Amino acid sequence: MPQNVTVKHPGRYPVHEGDKGQIHGGECNVTRCERLGAVFWNMGTYGLYCPVCAEGINWRRDRPPLCVRVDEKPSTVEAMERFKADNRYYDAI
Ligand SMILES: [Zn+2]
Repeated sequence: MPQNVTVKHPGRYPVHEGDKGQIHGGECNVTRCERLGAVFWNMGTYGLYCPVCAEGINWRRDRPPLCVRVDEKPSTVEAMERFKADNRYYDAI
């Protein structure tokens, strides 16, 4: 699948120009982070994060991690929701 048709969840946050945070292995979803290698899927923001930012987001050890390393981005909105359900993510951050 060409990268320019990557599916973006309508509830993603933030809504960046272009594909920032939406390409597996691409630029991190954090606005002020320009690192590449975004391979951690965030079930709360529907974006991909670099390992450094993902580690920061996952700082709570007593709760399920919000960012999970993935081999590929969930390819559809439905897959993104299924991923969240399967990983038992809950909204209390
Ligand atoms: Zn980052």
